[in-house]
Amino acid sequence: MSAVQRITVLGATGSIGLSTLDVIARHPERYRVFALSGFSRLAELRVLCLKHRPRYAVVPDAQAARTLQGSLQADGLDTQVLCGEEGLCAVAADAEVDCVMAAIVGAAGLRPTLAAVQAGKKVLLANKEALVMSGALFMQAVRSSGAVLLPIDSEHNAIFQCLPGDYARGLQQVGVRRVLLTASGGPFRETPLAALEHVTPEQACAHPNWSMGRKISVDSASMMNKGLELIEACWLFDARPEQIEVVIHRQSVIHSLVDYVDGSVLAQLGNPDMRTPIAHALAWPERIDSGVSPLDLFTVGRLDFERPDEQRFPCLRLAREAVQAGGSAPAMLNAANEVAVEAFLQGRIRFIDIARMIESVLNAQPVQAVEALDAVFEADAQARALAGEWLAGH
Ligand code: NAD
Ligand code: MG
Repeated sequence: MSAVQRITVLGATGSIGLSTLDVIARHPERYRVFALSGFSRLAELRVLCLKHRPRYAVVPDAQAARTLQGSLQADGLDTQVLCGEEGLCAVAADAEVDCVMAAIVGAAGLRPTLAAVQAGKKVLLANKEALVMSGALFMQAVRSSGAVLLPIDSEHNAIFQCLPGDYARGLQQVGVRRVLLTASGGPFRETPLAALEHVTPEQACAHPNWSMGRKISVDSASMMNKGLELIEACWLFDARPEQIEVVIHRQSVIHSLVDYVDGSVLAQLGNPDMRTPIAHALAWPERIDSGVSPLDLFTVGRLDFERPDEQRFPCLRLAREAVQAGGSAPAMLNAANEVAVEAFLQGRIRFIDIARMIESVLNAQPVQAVEALDAVFEADAQARALAGEWLAGH
């Protein structure tokens, strides 16, 4: 590839954003940062701007924009500071951008990610919630704009690497029997069920293998993360939920597998470091150095597998039911989960209440059809309102 790729990193101050900038900085001859966004930790955003000298930075509101603009000017930078969702959508869709890393967490990332998709960009999708919420509409937008969608979630990136280039013809057509989605099982894989009642946010965020943002860390502990990933895989690879099996693999060395009709099972392995899928997607179809150390199988020693226990992890069942129900159900599942995780992190509910609250929200409302984005946001708002009522009653 000849020209330098201009990249927008949405959610630059987060775990995925920082890993992305680490990979980009290793290849100045290939990549240039066009825009960076941050929602909190704006002092860190300023430092990132000094290092990467983007054309634009995006912050939550006008006041934060004035502050950052002032300090960047004092630093001698001509970075222009934009704000709000409008600013995020503008830097995602700008005609000069080649590639967008969608790494905002949660529903807040949906509009900016879709803006990148609709503008036909190469979109590196970390923000799984956006796809879970709007599945059919999102994939329709990818097809009609010609955007190139590459998965960053390590499991989906692994599946993508194990599938043939023409998998869009249909999994059955290319000889796939099923997809095996691996899960670490999180920090509570072996915690006695009765003790789950008392686990704290700090324990939930202490993931054994991965270092991640707080929301996805809690999702990993409840296995809602795997539930969201099941839905994500259905959309990305046009799979039915029955074609996807979740396998607990506690070492997080195999990132997922594809089982073919001839008995071949292909897997992608590597050290658990998100810079590998990020570098893969950035350079695809080429390969570049990611800074991740080589996998040493002698140190890994063994690979273990077990079936997930849905009594321990009811969120997995709720996610499967939501994708089977279709329509507004996944958007409601996602929104209720976002409220529940936030309430758990604030110490307002117990860990085991996360699944209870989500189930109660899903049962309170019949599934609606979603034919346009408005209906997705309506389902999201309804679920947040119902979750708020549940919280008030407990
Ligand atoms: P994080 O919390 O570390 O970072 C989130 C980023 O989003 C930050 O830059 C933050 O400023 C920004 N943000 C938060 N709320 C916002 C809002 N309302 N509006 C605009 N920006 C906002 O999260 P993360 O761990 O980097 O995860 C980001 C996304 O990537 C999530 O969807 C997560 O599920 C996905 N993901 C993360 C990992 C990982 O290893 N961290 C792995 C796979 C997928
Ligand atoms: Mg993942």
